[in-house]
Amino acid sequence: MLSMTEASARHVPPRQPARSRRIVIIGGGFTGAALARRLALSEADLQITVFEPRARLGAGLAYDTRDPALRLNVAAARMKAFPEDTLAFERFLQRTGRLATDGPAEAGGAIYARRSDFGDFMHDALAPLIASGRIVHHREAVTGVHRQNGGYRILGDKGTALSADLLVIATSHPLPCCPQAAMALAGDPRVIANPFETDHLNRIGREDPVLVLGAGLTAVDLLASLRARGHTGVVTLLSRSGALPQPHADRQLTTTIAAPAQAASLRGWLKAVRSAVERAEAEGLPWQSVFDALRQQSQAIWQGLPLSERKRFLRHLRRRFEARRYRMPPQIAALLDSDMAAGRVRSIAARVTAAEATRDGLLLTLRQAGGTARIETPWLAIATGPDHCGIIAQHAYLRQMADQGLIRADGLGLGLACNGASRAIGADGAPVETLFIAGPLARATFGELSGVPEIAAQMDAIARTLLAEQPLHSADRAQPVLS
Ligand SMILES: Cc1cc2nc3c(=O)[nH]c(=O)nc-3n(C[C@H](O)[C@H](O)[C@H](O)COP(=O)(O)OP(=O)(O)OC[C@H]3O[C@@H](n4cnc5c(N)ncnc54)[C@H](O)[C@@H]3O)c2cc1C
Repeated sequence: MLSMTEASARHVPPRQPARSRRIVIIGGGFTGAALARRLALSEADLQITVFEPRARLGAGLAYDTRDPALRLNVAAARMKAFPEDTLAFERFLQRTGRLATDGPAEAGGAIYARRSDFGDFMHDALAPLIASGRIVHHREAVTGVHRQNGGYRILGDKGTALSADLLVIATSHPLPCCPQAAMALAGDPRVIANPFETDHLNRIGREDPVLVLGAGLTAVDLLASLRARGHTGVVTLLSRSGALPQPHADRQLTTTIAAPAQAASLRGWLKAVRSAVERAEAEGLPWQSVFDALRQQSQAIWQGLPLSERKRFLRHLRRRFEARRYRMPPQIAALLDSDMAAGRVRSIAARVTAAEATRDGLLLTLRQAGGTARIETPWLAIATGPDHCGIIAQHAYLRQMADQGLIRADGLGLGLACNGASRAIGADGAPVETLFIAGPLARATFGELSGVPEIAAQMDAIARTLLAEQPLHSADRAQPVLS
């Protein structure tokens, strides 16, 4: 009688020729599209599928707009979408003659293109790969993911069901969340809940006052969109600190920040940054040059900080850091300056403690330094930025994956846990070999991962990991047949 092992060995079907590995990317914003493109341009035998409900790949929340008032926050030269061709976006702008029809693009000695131009650029790069079938775009939202034979079964909301060997999660940005105290206003037609779809602003009367919750880049984008529509009413920006976004320097220079003796201490880095700013100013360099240097070093700094220091950063320094790191394009900075000077924009430092809808407007109770105040407004816009904190709860497919132990939140409220190779960390604390977290949802591991160049670098690294692995053989997962 044969032993079990001998029987299994005898009856394993002959090895089949290698078959393509099936990679499914969920989310086709900049992150998912950059990864799909990078994989598609390789020689590897891959089936690349992207699930993305939007019509175009590569645009996502940030660049899927036709609003000409919305501009990139950084100069075109810094939108390095493809690590192997860092001038591609600038060439696209020249080749398509965009700048000839966009007089205000040039400002502060650089080009600050429209956000829609970058969406078009990504579409232009992806379209031939889709047309050739190298990338398959399913215009569907993923509603479910199940483990299946060591791989995954992915379900789309229009009925597509696909199997995959490798899965990438790239559904980064949820919409902003209405503060708890203002929840009574959710669903009210006078609340602009999605600040990224600026067509909703057409409902606002030209002279109507508008109260904006949030005073960051999303808030000043809304201001630019309103003014471009001829709106002249007073816009009030309400945030806890009252701080407004900062402008870029008129010269784009970068300096360096010397690492402190205690590189694992937030206090050490804070001192290092302060003295770098003093030194820069003494040398006639703008403070912005220090924050640009910090951006270059920030992944290394973040990864050198222990968890407790990362938490301290998020609690105490994040807002101040972000206000300097994420800066306004000069066009919007000029608009904000002139509107502030004319009294058409004001900024209030306060916290909403209660809200109610009345027949005449929306009534909010605020807690300010001087006590309590009430403010009534005909329009309220929520511009507090994408809310990553409850990311798993916001997507049915992520809830399912969490229930199966495949993913877990990162514990810092930034997104999903992953290791340094971007592999998801499951409920048991171990990396899941075939599951990757791409883009801003992986910030807790990598640190700075919001800007296009940083995301592009992570996609390059994920692609290298995927391409380094051996192709699958269809017999690899076949069960031995016992006679
Ligand atoms: C308003 C804004 C302006 C920015 N401006 C700049 C800038 O000027 N320069 C810069 O360097 N960076 C900028 N950034 C940062 C950066 O470029 C973005 O964070 C980046 O585009 C992130 O892209 P993403 O694909 O990871 O996320 P997203 O843009 O959020 O894309 C995720 C995609 O997933 C899709 N999706 C969601 N749920 C599902 C589902 N269930 N199934 C399938 N698909 C799904 C969505 O439709 C979406 O298209 C900006 C960010 C924002 C939000």
